[in-house]
Amino acid sequence: MRWSEFPKWGKWAADWAARYHAGLRDRPVRARTRPGEVADALPAHPPETAHPMDEIIADFESIVVPGITHWQHPRFFAYFPSNATPAAVLADNLITAMAPQCMLWQTSPAATEMETRMMDWLRQAIALPEDFHGVIQDSASSATLAAVLVMRERALNWQGNATGLAGQPRLRVYASDEVHSSVDRAIWISGIGQANLIRIPVRGPRRGMDIAALEAAIEADRATGHLPAGIIACTGGTGTGACDDIAAACAVGRRHGLFTHVDAAWAGSAMICPEFRALWAGVEQADSVVLNPHKWLGTQFDLSAHYLRSPDDLTRTLAIQPEYLKTHGANGIINYSEWSIPLGRRFRALKLWFLIRAHGLEGLRQMIRNHVAWSNGLAERLRAVPGFEITTEPVLSLFTFRYAPVGRDADASTQALLTRINDDGHIYLTQTRVDGRYVIRFQVGQFDCTAEDVDAAFDTITQTAISLEDG
Ligand SMILES: *Cc1c(COP(=O)(O)O)cnc(C)c1O
Repeated sequence: MRWSEFPKWGKWAADWAARYHAGLRDRPVRARTRPGEVADALPAHPPETAHPMDEIIADFESIVVPGITHWQHPRFFAYFPSNATPAAVLADNLITAMAPQCMLWQTSPAATEMETRMMDWLRQAIALPEDFHGVIQDSASSATLAAVLVMRERALNWQGNATGLAGQPRLRVYASDEVHSSVDRAIWISGIGQANLIRIPVRGPRRGMDIAALEAAIEADRATGHLPAGIIACTGGTGTGACDDIAAACAVGRRHGLFTHVDAAWAGSAMICPEFRALWAGVEQADSVVLNPHKWLGTQFDLSAHYLRSPDDLTRTLAIQPEYLKTHGANGIINYSEWSIPLGRRFRALKLWFLIRAHGLEGLRQMIRNHVAWSNGLAERLRAVPGFEITTEPVLSLFTFRYAPVGRDADASTQALLTRINDDGHIYLTQTRVDGRYVIRFQVGQFDCTAEDVDAAFDTITQTAISLEDG
């Protein structure tokens, strides 16, 4: 295919995208593919000769699309959202057409300067203080890994990269069981080791770290010659939306000279609404904060916003400058590849620029407020239905419930309900465990979701429960 043919197929793709989105409600949310079905439809060997574009596109429609789980479906209530918006998709298309590699300022000044400005726009939108500086990471997992590496280097007086961990005291990092698995991986990859990720028990309805236990754990570790390095707190944990007391966690961190990272990957987007900011009160005391506009906000994957109070600590940990990456004759510029683990970077900030301008902060706030209100409304309706139990109260737009009809095993009934709902495909939900009990998560977050879609979820959940009783 040549660029001269691009307008034809580009127009086809744009039309297809609009039709796809308009027709999403008619599709099952979750792919009904059997394992191996897509692989079997793909030839085992690559073609020696060129295929015409219309053949490739026909195969895309017949082989690929049926194997997609539709994250942009308005009745996607599983996991967390991964929203795409037409304005941000358009920005992505434009970036991809130019395909710049934006590792250094000089490899595309517009990408670097746009990133600085957009991270500052978003900082203002979520009301972080001016002394936070943002960088776009590919994912929250990378941001958390970068934060853990900074914790390690600070605690080791910047010797970890140079000499490794052998012979050093054992580093310790503290978090609850409610934090995301990306925290465990960051601990593994940084060489700190799972045994040195100290789990602090949670308490209260918010399932936040027991702050007295956190402080006691740090003191006990110090007394036994360990080296406490950092605290990882969460606002809106993945399972049930657990929220640590960020102010208290940061105060402990400061008292003990530890680096505090706040994972607000999902919930952080809601902080564009002032009324939700109480959930992370004290965040201005943190050293590092991550939130994913690629989840709720609408800058489709990937675009993770990582804010640091001292980016110098980050670049001291990650920057490396062989001669071929030096930029001569330009002082005071930022090379964002020194702020992140991969060297190469896409031009992601353009998605945020298009999104924020096309919707305005007020439009984005309204979307989030609707989702929170609808989710809370659904929790109230379900609570009133015999056999249903709300197991964790809504945190923003996420709550969990289970189905426990009298005289039946609640775990088995809840699991059976979830399986039947997802096999039907009208809506899509996922599960977690709360204190060992099997529960269903419900979150509202898809950009085009309406109040009617949430009503449809209520009908599906309750009618499926009745159909289970009928056998
Ligand atoms: C989704 C999520 C992550 C992981 O995000 P990625 O960007 O996919 O790495 C981390 N923490 C929390 C709380 C999340 O919800």
